[in-house]
Amino acid sequence: MSKHYDLIAIGAGSGGLSAAERGAMYGKKCAVVEMAKVGGTCVNIGCVPKKVMWNGAHIAHAVRDALDYGFDLQVNGFDWGKLVAAREGYINGITGWYGNYLKDSNIDFIQGKARFHDAKTLEVNGELYTADHIVIAPGGAPITPAIPGAEHGLTSDGFFALTEQPGRVAVVGGGYIAVELAGLLNALGSEVDLLLRGQHFLAGFDDMLRDTLMEEMVEAGVNILPNIALERVEKGADGLLTLHGSGGHTLSGFDTLIWAVGRAPLTADLNLEAAGLRADSRGFIPTDEFQNTQVPGIYCVGDATGRAQLTPVAIAAARRLGDRLFNHQSERKLDYTNIPTVMFSHPPIGTVGLTEEEARKLHGDAVKVYQTRFTPMYHAFTQHGSKTAMKLVCVGAQEKVVGVHIIGLGADEMLQGFAVAVKMGATKADFDNTVALHPTSAEELVTMR
Ligand SMILES: Cc1cc2nc3c(=O)[nH]c(=O)nc-3n(C[C@H](O)[C@H](O)[C@H](O)COP(=O)(O)OP(=O)(O)OC[C@H]3O[C@@H](n4cnc5c(N)ncnc54)[C@H](O)[C@@H]3O)c2cc1C
Repeated sequence: MSKHYDLIAIGAGSGGLSAAERGAMYGKKCAVVEMAKVGGTCVNIGCVPKKVMWNGAHIAHAVRDALDYGFDLQVNGFDWGKLVAAREGYINGITGWYGNYLKDSNIDFIQGKARFHDAKTLEVNGELYTADHIVIAPGGAPITPAIPGAEHGLTSDGFFALTEQPGRVAVVGGGYIAVELAGLLNALGSEVDLLLRGQHFLAGFDDMLRDTLMEEMVEAGVNILPNIALERVEKGADGLLTLHGSGGHTLSGFDTLIWAVGRAPLTADLNLEAAGLRADSRGFIPTDEFQNTQVPGIYCVGDATGRAQLTPVAIAAARRLGDRLFNHQSERKLDYTNIPTVMFSHPPIGTVGLTEEEARKLHGDAVKVYQTRFTPMYHAFTQHGSKTAMKLVCVGAQEKVVGVHIIGLGADEMLQGFAVAVKMGATKADFDNTVALHPTSAEELVTMR
């Protein structure tokens, strides 16, 4: 006998939990199936532990700057293990809270790996579960390159399992995870090489953000090596790693190697064919704007859709799906435009809307750009510092603001409100009509000439 639900979500991460939660809110009987830990990537091996490490890195900088602010400090070291233990304690608190929350919300938690039996049935640990609605939300996992010796490297998952601080580390990759890990390791005192396959990192971000961050990282001591195509990794008798690149390029002496070269959706083991579903060539599940797959009653949200792979996106799409399925809101769906993003680099980045390049491709000469670059007051007299740079991308006679790009101290917290303004269609005049907050860095965004 199979157990029947109104909705089952595959994966208890950001998307799956939100879908079940929304269904339960409308009085539906829901379950989530999870093969690892409740909370998924974000809570256990993604945003949350990453932000804790970034906070630690931020404090390392603050302690350094404290001397310039008159404090007579002596730092006797940094205990990586202590920070990691505290971080994991915090995460256990979150996952423990989830367990109780699911019970209180009348959502069944099924521990195990789900696969389709047919379009209305999942099999988990040999048991069958049927549902009127199945939400696929399995997220993804980091990939490693197919080169000899790749197994000597860690992925971001392995990074979060480190109980000792790397001494000399190579981070390979040009996406935001590579840049964030390289930045925080450097700030915490590791010696960091960041290896890029191409000339630059952060493809898709506005050039001003990419260029400024690259300057800042180099200035902070990250050794950025462009145009490296690794072919082989070798582990010496001393345990240290040597990286061999094309053209005889060799880098040696690393105790830690971190692959941050991309993530792949966890869809291969779902037995999609049994449900009449097919993933695309990269394993993503095609969905329409309402998160519908090709099969009625089966939906996909989150990273496995291949669209805007961010926690709040997975949550927002799942909640809107729940509203549509169970609360008669037939047109409810997520608008994937103007999704703000923050990158926890050093200094951080906040960005929303079109890059200048995208805007010029779409709107040509109708684009007007305002930008500024300055030393934030916090760093006015510190020995070590970082720059702040901001750009507003505006379009048309009304100068509608279609892009806001910020790099600098506080950019991570600055962006959210400006993202609201962009979403609402604010113009440069609206920005300028807003009285500034003084003295802040953010005020520059409403006073740019
Ligand atoms: C290092 C790192 C840092 C990140 N930082 C940020 C950040 O700062 N901000 C941000 O917004 N996003 C960040 N992200 C991205 C964010 O974590 C993801 O976008 C988000 O977790 C996607 O949610 P999801 O529900 O699609 O998948 P997930 O959260 O990955 O959840 C999927 C769950 O499904 C489970 N699962 C998979 N297959 C099965 C199966 N067959 N049966 C049962 N269970 C299954 C998995 O074990 C997993 O727990 C980060 C990611 C990483 C890796």
